[in-house]
Amino acid sequence: MQLNIREFSSKDASFKSELKELLSWESVSDVAVQKSVEEIVNRVRVDGDVALMELTNKFDRRSVNTASELVIEADELAQAAKRIDPALLSSLQKAANRVKIYHERQKQTSWQYEEADGTILGQQITPLDRVGVYVPGGKAAYPSSVLMNVMPAKVAGVGEIVMVVPTPDGFVNDIVLAAAHVAGVDRVITVGGAQAVAALAYGTETVPKVDKIVGPGNIYVASAKRLVFGAVGIDMIAGPSEILVVSDGLSNPDWIAMDLFSQAEHDEDAQSILISTDLGFIQKVKASMERLIDDMSRKDIIKTSLEGRGALIHVASREEAVEVANIVAAEHLELAVENPEEWLPEIRHAGAIFMGRFTPEALGDYCAGPNHVLPTSGTARFSSPLGVYDFQKRSSIIHCSHEGASELAKIASPLARGESLEAHALSAEFRIIDK
Ligand code: NAD
Repeated sequence: MQLNIREFSSKDASFKSELKELLSWESVSDVAVQKSVEEIVNRVRVDGDVALMELTNKFDRRSVNTASELVIEADELAQAAKRIDPALLSSLQKAANRVKIYHERQKQTSWQYEEADGTILGQQITPLDRVGVYVPGGKAAYPSSVLMNVMPAKVAGVGEIVMVVPTPDGFVNDIVLAAAHVAGVDRVITVGGAQAVAALAYGTETVPKVDKIVGPGNIYVASAKRLVFGAVGIDMIAGPSEILVVSDGLSNPDWIAMDLFSQAEHDEDAQSILISTDLGFIQKVKASMERLIDDMSRKDIIKTSLEGRGALIHVASREEAVEVANIVAAEHLELAVENPEEWLPEIRHAGAIFMGRFTPEALGDYCAGPNHVLPTSGTARFSSPLGVYDFQKRSSIIHCSHEGASELAKIASPLARGESLEAHALSAEFRIIDK
């Protein structure tokens, strides 16, 4: 099948504007969706379970009469794990274990230090009490999302993990439940969309109020997360998924074509970009894509994604490739090059960096160990992958000795008086020894 993918070169006079246009992505801020999400969130906030059941019956075509029908307890999750293919269960367990081992390295610990006068300063780390994990389930099932969102919370020591997942037409996906069991979810509630986010944020008779909501979802889920932020914490508002492959032209073109497809098959808005210094190689990858696409089960989605948002970019040098990669700040960056470690120090913005020809993004998506929840739409310039640190918080510790308080008070007092805050000044001054 012929593919009409945008192609351009750093030699083109229009290069900068082409690149800018390629990367411009406005997250859909559909007014009708916003209004509907506000209504849904307010209804659940006011009417609790009654609203949650009504909205679930409406949007997921179910006929739930009592809220307890929405709950799947931990023992039922264990049953689901027994029902799935043992090879698949084994892969889920191996993946979960690798993700756990990787994330254990991220765990922050409390620290303190003591000053000469006996004053102790420090930082205490505590896990969040209760977290809600949104697992999308409207159109497809995502067991890997269960593992990637739950495992860091487990490693952080979160007290309780409540997972929500919609079950359209009442169809419950055993693989998703098995993944919840493997990851150690405490309870699953079969609700989705904005109503699930509202239930987690404000609590209902059946759904406990959580401290933070994590996990991807469609526009209704993303808009609801944005709306409840403040009442609860959220991880991020994710845009469409992206991959940027940088190739030196020495890989098998079929491999690179499939890496680009692996992103494009997610959805029509996903973005796959190839950068290479080798124009001939770019043409070979294009030919591979045109040959391979016909056999892909999601070929229509892949074609729409590649033709709408994909690009093949020719650059003159390695320096230019790095410059463009840093401008794109991709969610996934594949360095399909010889000696990728030489490139690494120059890469400043990317969610995850896949090093060398044998590291396709797909391995990171499922089981390498690092998290697959990553900053999208250029937000890797200022944000990071989901991790244990998203489920831990820090409290500052200040423990003054009398001597230490006396010395600090001499610094604080003029500052407090400079701000005309007399009680602050006096509170500090009362602690001064031998005034
Ligand atoms: P979803 O669970 O996000 O949404 C389904 C819910 O949307 C339904 O239960 C319903 O309540 C609500 N809804 C649907 N139509 C509605 C309407 N007209 N009004 C009000 N509510 C409505 O599942 P999905 O739709 O399949 O979307 C999943 C999304 O998650 C996709 O965009 C996918 O790309 C993304 N995703 C991202 C990652 C990641 O790691 N970034 C991983 C998996 C999935």
